[in-house]
Amino acid sequence: MSQHFDLIAIGGGSGGLAVAEKAAQFGLSVAIVEAGKLGGTCVNAGCVPKKVMWYAAQLAEAVADAPDFGVRAQSDGLDWGKLVAGRNRYIANINDYWDGYAERLGITRIEGYGRFVDARTIAVGDTHYSADHIVIATGGRPIVPRLPGHELGITSDGFFALEERPQRVAIIGGGYIGVELAGLLRAFGTEITMVALEDRVLWLFDPLISETLAENMQADGIRMHLEFEVSGLEKNAEGISLVEKSGQRLTGFDQVIWAVGRAPNTRDLDLEAAGIEVQPNGMIPTDAFQNTNVPGIYAIGDITGRDPLTPVAIAAGRRLAERLFKDKPDLKLDYENIPTVVFAHPPIGKVGLTEPEARERYGDTLTIYETSFTPMRYALNEHGPKTAMKLVCAGPEEKVVGIHLIGDGVDEMLQGFAVALKMGATKADLDDTVPIHPCSAEELVTLKVPVRSPGGQ
Ligand SMILES: Cc1cc2nc3c(=O)[nH]c(=O)nc-3n(C[C@H](O)[C@H](O)[C@H](O)COP(=O)(O)OP(=O)(O)OC[C@H]3O[C@@H](n4cnc5c(N)ncnc54)[C@H](O)[C@@H]3O)c2cc1C
Repeated sequence: MSQHFDLIAIGGGSGGLAVAEKAAQFGLSVAIVEAGKLGGTCVNAGCVPKKVMWYAAQLAEAVADAPDFGVRAQSDGLDWGKLVAGRNRYIANINDYWDGYAERLGITRIEGYGRFVDARTIAVGDTHYSADHIVIATGGRPIVPRLPGHELGITSDGFFALEERPQRVAIIGGGYIGVELAGLLRAFGTEITMVALEDRVLWLFDPLISETLAENMQADGIRMHLEFEVSGLEKNAEGISLVEKSGQRLTGFDQVIWAVGRAPNTRDLDLEAAGIEVQPNGMIPTDAFQNTNVPGIYAIGDITGRDPLTPVAIAAGRRLAERLFKDKPDLKLDYENIPTVVFAHPPIGKVGLTEPEARERYGDTLTIYETSFTPMRYALNEHGPKTAMKLVCAGPEEKVVGIHLIGDGVDEMLQGFAVALKMGATKADLDDTVPIHPCSAEELVTLKVPVRSPGGQ
């Protein structure tokens, strides 16, 4: 006979842990099936290791800028081994925390890969487990296109496993992971070449952000090749080469990083055994309440193909548990206006609609405010990355429907402004807020003259 639970979460990452934690707190019997370490991508190969390294990069940049401010500091280079060892210890502590916390909550930990036997039963190896509610939260993995020589490149997972800092790196992909890895490696002194299929980096962000980021990256010495379609990788005595479709070659890299997107972990779940619908791209469609097409089976997080971010997976998981077990039948996650930060150099933040998206929704009623400046943080430095900000406002009341930021400190600045946008703030509300001086954030409440307004005035 199989062991029975009220709820089984397949995947112990951000989403699976969130739903399991809540359900266990509500007194239900809960199991998590996890093939790797608790914490999933975010803790083990995503947000956490990336952000630790981003802080190291910020410190390296600060040391370089310090002498201009009269601070006698000199960098003696980076001890990559020490950074990686410290980062791994930090992650191991988080893993330990989750192991202990799950145990204290009475959550049963099932180690291994889960697959469906039927709509109520999961198999892990030869053992079967059943549940009234099954939540699929298996996340994704980096994509490596099956091009000739593809195995010469690594992915973000391989990057976090590097034991030495590479000297000359090509990054394939101008999305957020590519941009983040490029920025932090560059800050450590690595030569970076970035290639991207699209005509701009971060093509899903507002054009102002892409342009300012590209300018900052080039000023940092990052070489960029846009509209560059890689057809394969080759290796010779000089190192690894990228071969472009037209035959053009970029040569001499000691590491190539594929950062071309992530694929959902649906392949080995035997979804058809439970009759669960899956999209051709492997994502599991859900309704607004995270229900799949099979009653009692839900999907949350990256596997659903919506806003692949840790707090989104967590919020969806928590709301699902409350809806199912706390008699809140209407509770669901609002996927509108989710704020996002990219830990580039400098960081980027966005919430709401880009200007092109807002034009589609609101037509010619938009008023756009922009500013661009070098922040005071670099007052005594000869060069410093540019900060740029855009407010997208709609209708005669100038409701703020998009906020787009790049520059030092915007990663911490965005959260509060995201609250204001979600509450329906107008430009007048921002203007009515007394600025904090001197800081970059004050620019957002002191923007005066629109760069574009209805009727093109
Ligand atoms: C380099 C990088 C940087 C990132 N930075 C950020 C960031 O700064 N901020 C942010 O919000 N997000 C960031 N993300 C995204 C974030 O990590 C994901 O959105 C988040 O982890 C999704 O959570 P999830 O629960 O859907 O899946 P995951 O966290 O991926 O968890 C899925 C888990 O399921 C397990 N699993 C898979 N298949 C099975 C199976 N059949 N049986 C059992 N277990 C299985 C996996 O081992 C994994 O532990 C980053 C991602 C990457 C790769």
